[in-house]
Amino acid sequence: MISADPFKKYAEALLEKGVLSVKIIEPQTIETAPWVAFKCQFGCPHYGKNLCCPPHAPTYEQTRKIIDSYQTALLFHTHERQRVTEMAEETAKLMFFDGYYKVIAFGSGPCTLCKECTLQGCINPAKAKPSMEACGIDVFQTVRNNGYELNTLADRQSQSDNFGLILIY
Ligand code: SF4
Repeated sequence: MISADPFKKYAEALLEKGVLSVKIIEPQTIETAPWVAFKCQFGCPHYGKNLCCPPHAPTYEQTRKIIDSYQTALLFHTHERQRVTEMAEETAKLMFFDGYYKVIAFGSGPCTLCKECTLQGCINPAKAKPSMEACGIDVFQTVRNNGYELNTLADRQSQSDNFGLILIY
């Protein structure tokens, strides 16, 4: 029997983890841009210090080609910044074992699994996931394209809006 909503169980699992909302989206709505890596290189202290960050992460051109080889993706919104990568990775794993063999997850922020990144071959490749921005995705435009409101924050202590992305098939 074909389920009416094949992604309901993943959405429910994410909501149970504290996600605020989940959307199934078209990969064409995901924006990639050359300036994103510039912002990493000239503005982020993690640049070059982590295998999930530029220049080790895929370039925006590589990411675009990857995105364009998918037909369906899942985008989720949460205030729990530290847990986005784990949430995306665990959901992608569930999908993989359900038969979505192409599934890949993007996280949020630099990889924090090791105290210091080896920079020479990841020691935890199954769990380490690059963020959308590390791969050249324009997160602001992508989430706006999908009906979310996202603005820059003047106050870093404010409750932040964070997003995770999973390319499904
Ligand atoms: S898991 Fe460790 S080695 Fe791999 S990217 Fe993350 S910090 Fe680096």
